[in-house]
Amino acid sequence: MKKLIQGIVDFRKGLTQESRDLFAKLAVGQKPDVLFIGCSDSRVVPNLFASTDPGDLFVIRNVGNLIPPVSDSEQDNSVFAAIEFSVMSLNVADIVVCGHSECGAMQALAQGIENCSFPHVRSWLKHGVESANKVRQGMIIDPALSEHNQISQVNVLEQIEHLKTYPIIRERLEKKQLRIHGWWFDIARADVYCYEQLASHFVLMDEEESKLILQRLK
Ligand SMILES: [Zn+2]
Repeated sequence: MKKLIQGIVDFRKGLTQESRDLFAKLAVGQKPDVLFIGCSDSRVVPNLFASTDPGDLFVIRNVGNLIPPVSDSEQDNSVFAAIEFSVMSLNVADIVVCGHSECGAMQALAQGIENCSFPHVRSWLKHGVESANKVRQGMIIDPALSEHNQISQVNVLEQIEHLKTYPIIRERLEKKQLRIHGWWFDIARADVYCYEQLASHFVLMDEEESKLILQRLK
């Protein structure tokens, strides 16, 4: 907490005129073009690894980067509300679902949620159970990874399928007004990977891969 308080003092001191101008502009309204859905994990910081500024990303972060299917939205409507607002009002053009290595939620899924002693975590993790089941049934994206990291990668694809259960998402996808991307952050290497459908693999987002992705977005 001390670091947080001192950080606010340092931030105020270090604000450049450029940053002040940016915040003044953002006060009038936001126009992020990406909805980023990631894990609450303190080590996963999209603004850092994607070098984004305030105003660039609309963000949902929760335990395990899970998206309840629309049939469950009555119980978990904060995720639903954020999706609805960012798509319908902010008109984001892209949604990124980002998992990460060494995710505590994925480790709990690997061990079986019935063994989780936290009742609310156990209840929430039901939205990821299918990811663990698929890995157990043989769906492996990268066999070199540990089981919980394999579940984490499969979970990115699983949550994208959950996203597609939302009628507003389906509609925008059909009209080609929206794209969904699966990303995976490797904490130890501080590397971000992007799921490539044709290769059925997460590919390192280096300069070459990023160029290919940008070409496809044109
Ligand atoms: Zn996590």
